[in-house]
Amino acid sequence: MSPIMRSDYLRVLVCGGRDYNDAATVYDVLSSIHISEVAHGGALGADKLADDWARQHWQTVSRRVYPADWNGPCDSSCRSGHRRYRDLGRPPQPGDQTYCPNAGPRRNQIMLDNFRPDLVIAFPGGRGTADMVRRAVAAGVEVRQVPADQNRNQT
Ligand SMILES: [Zn+2]
Repeated sequence: MSPIMRSDYLRVLVCGGRDYNDAATVYDVLSSIHISEVAHGGALGADKLADDWARQHWQTVSRRVYPADWNGPCDSSCRSGHRRYRDLGRPPQPGDQTYCPNAGPRRNQIMLDNFRPDLVIAFPGGRGTADMVRRAVAAGVEVRQVPADQNRNQT
């Protein structure tokens, strides 16, 4: 019976799809780990569910949110002309605001470098999630990928 040391509590970075809605799985996975701090990108879906979980555990879990600066400027790694128009349901017009598609991956690297997680938990998602996982693996951070649970989503 060794006491639980503070170091047993992990700093966890959560990522996953914006349309991921399996709250029960997010809560089960996060509650199964000793977590001291949760970081996420502030998006809907997995990020929001993890944030909800962290808020419910505010007495022991702190939250760090790293939103992507989609409307912000490009950097030197961006190709010229790669900014895109948001889908407004009509053809783009002069003066419409554009966004940098690299803002998400850029944020992912900042979140990784700045938060320095012990563990990345990746709920099912798309390209942004895959980018986060790839960067975490490259940085030597442990990644736990949570598979989609079809049965649970069909309630
Ligand atoms: Zn850009």
